[in-house]
Amino acid sequence: MTNNATLKMQFLFSLRKAGILDKQVLDAMERVDRKNFVNNVFSEKAYDDTPLPIACGQTISQPTVVGLMTQALQVTSRDKVLEVGTGSGYQAAILSLLARRVYTVERHSLLVHNATKIFQKLGINNITTILADGGYGLEQQAPFDRIIVTAASDDPPASLLSQLKIGGIMIIPVGQSDNIQNLIKIAKTDSGYDYQDLQPVRFVPLLAGTEKEQ
Ligand code: SAH
Repeated sequence: MTNNATLKMQFLFSLRKAGILDKQVLDAMERVDRKNFVNNVFSEKAYDDTPLPIACGQTISQPTVVGLMTQALQVTSRDKVLEVGTGSGYQAAILSLLARRVYTVERHSLLVHNATKIFQKLGINNITTILADGGYGLEQQAPFDRIIVTAASDDPPASLLSQLKIGGIMIIPVGQSDNIQNLIKIAKTDSGYDYQDLQPVRFVPLLAGTEKEQ
């Protein structure tokens, strides 16, 4: 059987091979053990470059996609970041090592609960996890230096664009949920928005409203 250290080395190698070369992003991804965020049933797949099922019919994203999105976000240690779509909490945990403060919004209360517990267990104290429809952003904490959306919508939601600081960056998958979507990078300038296509991706859809589980 391949041991954990070898699997982790292969994990880091697959990130580099996919074009994640930013040292801080690689360090953060080395430090945040993905095993903490996947269901025990899948623990031997934790370092595979594949999305995996989590509770509520959702998924933890593929590590290379997490890496590319994080790299494209160009987070600095002064930044206040908004993530829409907490899911397992894995992406937020990586961001927490790079940013000053992370606000992550999720529409399933069970996922909010689970992620909050993991952050506590790992001693991460600069993430706030909120049950809300992230399509409206998080008005009470706006504006944000960086916004990352980990669920796909037809167009970037207007509330999110308006809650981005001038000079800020937003990364979001756009396109129909049952189709291949396009990951785009939006830079807000004082005269408008610059859009850049990054790569094709596949995410679960950004849905309206919140879901309360038992
Ligand atoms: N970033 C996650 C993966 C996200 S999966 C991780 O690292 O594991 C996408 C998540 O977006 C799902 O958990 C889904 O419930 C959530 N989501 C979808 N629409 C949403 C909305 N409008 N507001 C908040 N969360 C939403």
